[in-house]
Amino acid sequence: METNKTYQKKIDGLISIMKESGFLNDKKVELAIRKMPRHEFVPLSNKDEAYEDKPISIMKNQTISQPSVVSRMTELLDIKEGQKILEIGSGSGWQTAILSYLVGDGKVYTVERHSELAEFAKKNLEKLRNSNVKVIFGDGNLGLVEEAPFDRIIITAACKKVPDILLEQLSVNGLLIAPVGGYPQSLVLLKKTNQGIIEMQNQPGYVFVPLLGKIDETK
Ligand code: SAH
Repeated sequence: METNKTYQKKIDGLISIMKESGFLNDKKVELAIRKMPRHEFVPLSNKDEAYEDKPISIMKNQTISQPSVVSRMTELLDIKEGQKILEIGSGSGWQTAILSYLVGDGKVYTVERHSELAEFAKKNLEKLRNSNVKVIFGDGNLGLVEEAPFDRIIITAACKKVPDILLEQLSVNGLLIAPVGGYPQSLVLLKKTNQGIIEMQNQPGYVFVPLLGKIDETK
């Protein structure tokens, strides 16, 4: 889908702001952000704010993540065309759309525990005709065993510990990124090797809504 002129200027502004603050260094990720219009993924009443570098409330007390954070997680995941990706926490579907753009003829599976949000993400992704995406309503703590293993796994909600089941569903040489810890969280990038799990990156200072479900039913 082509981004219309009204939003083009705003996207340019957002890209500049992200770069000035040290985010968005990868050209392919920049292109994905340009091609997947964020205003299609926010509630109607928030369209004007879609290109500000901030999270926006969607439904069920959840948020569409901040663009600079989405760019950082996507860059760290080092996505290649043709890969199979699992995302936990579809929310609006915007991060999903960016992943879907980058994998090309690969596939993105995204799991969301709120049925309303799973529907919201699905509708938003359909607007862009992203056909390499499947939205699944369910508990992401369980992963998606029928489609495992995955080349990449991204958790877009804060977890106290990365669920072991998700590490089991990661390919050897695969990467997993997640915000881990209490408040604030660290973005942790893990690699699965034949020798075990290696922590590749640990960047403190991020805030995400919590990963709920099987492990923590507090909300
Ligand atoms: N990537 C999304 C982020 C949404 S916020 C976006 O930018 O729009 C995190 C999402 O994780 C919320 O939609 C929340 O409902 C979902 N979530 C939390 N716990 C989950 C779980 N156990 N399984 C699946 N989704 C979960």
